[in-house]
Amino acid sequence: MNQVFKFGGASVKDAAGVRNLAEILKKYAPKNLLVVVSAMGKTTNALEELNEAYIAGESRITVLFEAIKAYHWVIVTELFPDSKHPIYDDLANTFVEIDWILEETPHPDADFNYDQLVSIGEVLSTKIVAHFVQLSGISCKWLDARSYIQTDNTYREGQVDWEKTTQLIKESIPNILKTEIAITQGFIGNTSENFTTTLGREGSDFSAAIFAYGLQAESLTIWKDVPGVLNADPKLFTDTQKYEQLSYAEALEMTYYGATVIHPKTIKPLQNAGIALLVKPFYAPEEAGTLISEKADKQHLIPAIIVKKNQILISISTTDFSFITENHLSELFATFAHLHIKLNTMQISALSFSVCIDYDAKRFQKLQAALANGFKFKYNEALELITIRHFTPEKIDELSAGRKVYMEQLSRNTAQLVVQ
Ligand code: ASP
Ligand code: MG
Repeated sequence: MNQVFKFGGASVKDAAGVRNLAEILKKYAPKNLLVVVSAMGKTTNALEELNEAYIAGESRITVLFEAIKAYHWVIVTELFPDSKHPIYDDLANTFVEIDWILEETPHPDADFNYDQLVSIGEVLSTKIVAHFVQLSGISCKWLDARSYIQTDNTYREGQVDWEKTTQLIKESIPNILKTEIAITQGFIGNTSENFTTTLGREGSDFSAAIFAYGLQAESLTIWKDVPGVLNADPKLFTDTQKYEQLSYAEALEMTYYGATVIHPKTIKPLQNAGIALLVKPFYAPEEAGTLISEKADKQHLIPAIIVKKNQILISISTTDFSFITENHLSELFATFAHLHIKLNTMQISALSFSVCIDYDAKRFQKLQAALANGFKFKYNEALELITIRHFTPEKIDELSAGRKVYMEQLSRNTAQLVVQ
């Protein structure tokens, strides 16, 4: 049975990371394996900055591009002591692709520019990784993900054409996997006119799920810098606990409320095809990690705490002090949808409708302008939205202690607090 592994940017941020990846493949690679890799370290951020400078016509593009090159060359010289190794040409040629883009005048569609340029981060990383894996004595083949993942032309958020994509994966990849490991890029896809698209930030998990779905793989393993799926972000809480198992449904709920351990789009295709998802630590590959599948042991679900920062709580009421009716709500919802505003939580009372959303100054201005006729606003910024799945009263007390609570909402399984 085919399997898919996914390694994120943090796992290949330096030469030691790439060596560790090759070790994992040596010790733990199953027979038929496709490996999906993200751009190295913070390369995507660096390329985003380069793209902004390029569009703005700023001269700092040279400095920015040199830094990206230098970062990759340091890793390459450490991994490949033989300066005649083909990676040197291969990487130089990939950098030339960036040169070519930077020499052209930017395309009027900024998102189009973004995808053509930023996608190269994944090409760079997979070239280095594939050459190094090969050098370590593991037979492998570099695949261009754009030959398989087909999308529409929504740049920066390519919508996958599942039928075409599945067909392309099915008809050629299983054969390759019979004899060697395949290594390919996360995050990137291709339009019917052969332009590159990206699938949204942190989209490599989703790419891995698309490949797993197309291969009808037995499992997808996401290798991360955490022991597995934890009940809270270890950067915010000290006493986190790891889940041994989770159901797809529970994992979906957690990502919906903002847990960032897995990209939200990853789980659905796996669930549809019954593909197990393992989240494992790349620094301790022998550990069990977390198993996400249809059936999970539901008995002891530890409360999961998900914190979203930079929230704004907006209370909207009518200018004539009338009750909030279904007609008002329908106008409000139409406006949210039109402005692509995601409501993280909401509450209604007689005279006002409150929503908590991610704060974005421009969007908030647009919202106010769109509703200026008939509605007025009260709001508080710089809040946090804390969601607790499988809450206990003690947990709520603990998390709200010493904080000002602006809104609290409880359903059977989920508590939400908007706090300062
Ligand atoms: N390299 C891309 C990003 O940083 C995709 C990914 O890492 O999943 O967003
Ligand atoms: Mg990443």
